[in-house]
Amino acid sequence: MTHPGACDEHAQEQRPPWSEHGASDRRAMLTEILAQVSIEALQGDTLEAMLQRIVDCVARRLPVAIASIILLNDAGTHFVQEVWSGIELDLPGELPWPVTVGASGRCVRSGEAQLIADVEADADYVPGNCRVKSEYLVPIRHRAHLHGVLNLESISADFFTPEVCAMFDAVALQIAGAVHLARVVRELELANLKLEQLSMSDGLTGIANRRSFDQRLAQEWLRHARAGESLALLLVDVDCFKALNDACGHVFGDECLRVLARLCAEIADGTQAHVSRYGGEEFVLLLPGCDLHEARRLGIDLCRRIEALAIDHPASVVADHVTVSIGASAARPDPRQPPESLIVVADRALYEAKAKGRNGVVAMLCA
Ligand code: GH3
Ligand code: MG
Ligand code: MG
Repeated sequence: MTHPGACDEHAQEQRPPWSEHGASDRRAMLTEILAQVSIEALQGDTLEAMLQRIVDCVARRLPVAIASIILLNDAGTHFVQEVWSGIELDLPGELPWPVTVGASGRCVRSGEAQLIADVEADADYVPGNCRVKSEYLVPIRHRAHLHGVLNLESISADFFTPEVCAMFDAVALQIAGAVHLARVVRELELANLKLEQLSMSDGLTGIANRRSFDQRLAQEWLRHARAGESLALLLVDVDCFKALNDACGHVFGDECLRVLARLCAEIADGTQAHVSRYGGEEFVLLLPGCDLHEARRLGIDLCRRIEALAIDHPASVVADHVTVSIGASAARPDPRQPPESLIVVADRALYEAKAKGRNGVVAMLCA
């Protein structure tokens, strides 16, 4: 793997050599860098951007030819992400790297920092740049969890003194805290997303639930009012469903609802229609851009397709299989009217469909 060109080689070469600074100067610089890393670790940015700023800061201000942070996968078996700063590196192979190889792998396997005073004498060292003489690797660990390795390589053989190593140990701790926090935030975001999806879907059938429908109806009502377009709705109610439960049991009734939900979703697939479970044995299809005529046609098609499923119904007054009645309504929404007026009219139409003998569609325009 070849990293992009050197970013701070110039800056390093223009600074007086590290060894020319007095001890107290060096200590002050290390403290300053540690303070800078703490600030970077607290910035509310993406994890990658924050890590990049940390390695840039280290490579810019110290005689570190290469500073990199290599993160592990959740299982801790492979390095999966690297953020890097310094002179050009030419490493064999792309991520992910297994932790079974290399000095970084040894750092993970042992769980201990690794000081390599002479890289040529270390069998595990994977050469990335021939100018590198020494290396220091520190585990990035938050409590018991090993997140990765902080890797520092120097072109000087005696840079990694105990004082410098202690500073890098502290830097690794800062990074571990920041990585931990970023991962907790990411997990929370994912959990929130999942909760949001759960709160919008129906547990039995998996399609959208009433809450989702109410939101969508309100949105579409306003959108269609602005565009001056027709919005339609189908309210679908299973005929004699109570009798089906009584005759075949609730488990059979549940499965029937799942099959009907699947069919409604199939019909809506690839269209703008929004399908949801409105209540017990009632489904609703919201049909953006549809007029009453189109809604009625779709309703008739749905009735036929449900009949064609031929789900046994030994106790129906309509047929020997499951049927539905549908109330269709359509409106050119008026923002001063409540969106529920579409439901009120579809409900009235549905009542009429039942009264007419079920297994059919009645369509009514909203006034
Ligand atoms: P109609 O033809 O007039 O619509 O008669 P119906 O029996 O379908 O209507 P009714 O409102 O009398 O009964 C609806 C039944 O739906 C009653 C209720 O037990 C059943 N039900 C509601 N939710 C569920 C569910 O999640 N699973 C099952 N199996 N039954 C349900
Ligand atoms: Mg009902
Ligand atoms: Mg019913």
